[in-house]
Amino acid sequence: MIAHPRFATLLRMSADAKTSRLVVIANRLPVTRYKEGPETRWKTSPGGLVSALQPFLQASDGSWVGWPGTEGEVPQPFRHDGILLVPVGLTPADLENFYLGFSNSTLWPLYHDAVRWPEFHRHWWWPYVEVNARFARAAADALEPGDIAWVHDYQLQLVPALLRELRPETRIGFFLHIPFPPVELFAQLPWRTQLLEGLLGADLVGFQTRNGALNFARAARRFTSAQGSDRVLEFQGRRIEIDAYPISIDFKRYESLAAREDVQTRAQEIREQISGNRKIILGIDRLDYTKGIDQRLRAFETLLGRYENALEDVVFVQVAVPSRELVPEYAQMRERIESQVGRTNGRYGVPGMTPIQYLYRSLTTEELVAYYVAADVMAVTPLRDGMNLVAKEYVAARVDGGGVLVLSEFAGAARELQQAVLVNPHDVDGIAIAFERALEMPPKEQRRRMADLRRTVSNGDVHLWADSFLGMLGR
Ligand code: UDP
Repeated sequence: MIAHPRFATLLRMSADAKTSRLVVIANRLPVTRYKEGPETRWKTSPGGLVSALQPFLQASDGSWVGWPGTEGEVPQPFRHDGILLVPVGLTPADLENFYLGFSNSTLWPLYHDAVRWPEFHRHWWWPYVEVNARFARAAADALEPGDIAWVHDYQLQLVPALLRELRPETRIGFFLHIPFPPVELFAQLPWRTQLLEGLLGADLVGFQTRNGALNFARAARRFTSAQGSDRVLEFQGRRIEIDAYPISIDFKRYESLAAREDVQTRAQEIREQISGNRKIILGIDRLDYTKGIDQRLRAFETLLGRYENALEDVVFVQVAVPSRELVPEYAQMRERIESQVGRTNGRYGVPGMTPIQYLYRSLTTEELVAYYVAADVMAVTPLRDGMNLVAKEYVAARVDGGGVLVLSEFAGAARELQQAVLVNPHDVDGIAIAFERALEMPPKEQRRRMADLRRTVSNGDVHLWADSFLGMLGR
């Protein structure tokens, strides 16, 4: 299926598939395993990245290299939905050291402005190198002359250079889905030069924002022998292009889900069950310390303390999606947030009226969209975030043209979504004031802002994102 024929790169690929086969290399394969009787089956995982890359992979007879998400025996390469999937195995020790350790307890906090202390351990670094080499070998085996390789995200930053050694002629792209930190923070990393040289193995390195691209170019000039501008570096006789490619969502999918009658009915039900006549402020995040959930809840508590009848006027709904529960930092954060919810509800609640409704679970996409439709105010206040897709999904779901987005200045999305109410996510009083402003915003101003936000998100959807990156890489 070629879903988006208006895109130039996709058309070129389908016309001349042999010369530009796409091989994607990412930590996870785009499928999830499930059992049907004795049979093991795979289903395509939901998500914007998968739906954006699928048409390119299908049109070019491409393949995807990644971890199948299961321990034990690694399946042989297999075809699924017109794409050749190439599984790479991870042992329990790899999961502990490469994945939970170096990726999620060193790089994740360091790249998110060190909002938590990054741990530096040599016994995590070597497994990171080893697993990256395994991915590079699997990718090299999957590549044929003339193919394009697109490597994704912080778990695989050494793959571009390792792959370049094995397949020197391949066009290699890399996209970082999380922020690239300022050089002063990045400089802490004991393996900073190796990581930068890993990335410099690519021909094109893409970031969510221009700032990320600038941070990377500066770090590369400081800690490697690379020379050049913030857009083009020369390294070991090769030319590396650097730019911002803000990722997005499948706008039409969220828009049409939101317009569906069953989703509208469900939104109405949520309003009746949760809020009565109260306005809803909604937060939806993975339970991650980068998301600023504590500060946001304290801001809401401040609002409750400031206005006598706030309890009758407004309810806060926080959906916290379980995440990385094996990392101790995440387990502690969950306890902290849940006791904060308990404290606020204990202090301000009355029988039949709870100020914070807290759900610890993940929702189906339909249910998620029903919540977006039901919410008067969407609170997206991460301390640092590569992009934040929830913010863009909320905008796409507001087919009624109303609703207010309160958005952190430190989310990548803030660069594009200037008509949101922008806040400093560390400033509890400032967030409380932003909530107040959002709750009282006249409908006319809401509609004007939302129209602008919707135009921005629909003009730059995830299909255009993939097309721009691949267009640049394939040149
Ligand atoms: N999401 C989901 N189920 C949920 C809550 C969220 O599928 O119950 C999805 C949401 O639609 C969004 C993604 O998870 O596409 C979160 O992406 P975001 O960029 O906001 O944050 P991340 O979790 O990647 O840091």
